[in-house]
Amino acid sequence: QPADSEKSSDTGVSVLVRVRPFNKKELLEQSSAIISKASTNSLSICDQHYTFDAVADEDSTQEEMFKLVGLPMVENCLAGFNSSIFAYGQTGSGKTYTMWGVVHDPTSGKPPSAERGVTPRVFETLFSRIKEEETKNAEKQLFFQCRCSFLEIYNEQIADLLEPRHKNLQVREDVKTGVYVDNLTEEYVSNMDDVSRLLLKGLGNRRIGATSLNTESSRSHTVFTCVLECRYKTLADGMSSVRRSRINLVDLAGSERQKQSGAAGERLKEAGNINKSLSQLGNVINILAEIAQSGKQRHVPYRDSRLTFLLQESLGGNAKLAMICAVSPADSCKSESTSTLRFAQRAK
Ligand code: ADP
Ligand code: MG
Repeated sequence: QPADSEKSSDTGVSVLVRVRPFNKKELLEQSSAIISKASTNSLSICDQHYTFDAVADEDSTQEEMFKLVGLPMVENCLAGFNSSIFAYGQTGSGKTYTMWGVVHDPTSGKPPSAERGVTPRVFETLFSRIKEEETKNAEKQLFFQCRCSFLEIYNEQIADLLEPRHKNLQVREDVKTGVYVDNLTEEYVSNMDDVSRLLLKGLGNRRIGATSLNTESSRSHTVFTCVLECRYKTLADGMSSVRRSRINLVDLAGSERQKQSGAAGERLKEAGNINKSLSQLGNVINILAEIAQSGKQRHVPYRDSRLTFLLQESLGGNAKLAMICAVSPADSCKSESTSTLRFAQRAK
């Protein structure tokens, strides 16, 4: 039944797994690979077989990742749907590399790196698609405006990455405008240099927490959001209309369990809070999948964490979600990789 399959692909979360190449440490330890790609959308880890929407192996390029995940989201966002891309996985699995990658420095005089990630590529395509749409709809006087914000959720506190003096910002809800972060900086962008500058500035303001697993590990969730406004005149009566949608690019905190990263005291307290936004995101996605399948209404506990409260309008309803689950191929990461793949499976 075509109607049913259309419906299920429409409501589900698109889940993609990316297996990164061995890192130096794994090569030195002569780790063996326990994950192998079986087809374009399946893999096996030891004897377990898993199927997702797509699987990208260690040979996958940043451009391929963009085509699989970023490109559909640009089209969704242009069509007026709130869209989000999440990177999930243990620290060191390649989340940050996939989401931002090597961000172009507009002052460097060099061409952009082939290692730029999904986010810069999303905006490259967004800007060129905007030009196309504006040209195609010139008679409606159609035009787009984009404004971006960049924030970090650390220990269930929201900090503005574009204005580091703005700490512990509050999420508020307005009957008219919906959910917003009070006092969060928003900047208009109209070209790639604008976006690159914001990305570099915000990434430079991130908090870095050292754990024994990876000294550069980020214990926070990083959220880059672009609000896209499309204004046009209806040809019949010349009335002005506006259509608003947003695209969220989210680099989640490491999903590893605490035992392994040797957390204690303050760190453990932080870990509890970090896992609160992470586990609540998982809960919400599972509940939304159940609602989509059963067609029955159910309470969705968006307010139980900062991340889900903040993103609530980009999770439910007609919103489009893609989850990139990043894993290491090494046997030393077996238990964390297995837990990431189970999370990925449940999100479907
Ligand atoms: P995470 O954000 O999940 O903690 P990172 O994205 O920082 O992990 O990746 C850890 C290291 O591995 C970084 O040095 C990164 O450049 C490298 N890396 C990750 N994924 C890839 C990949 N697909 N190709 C090449 N290097 C990668
Ligand atoms: Mg990271």
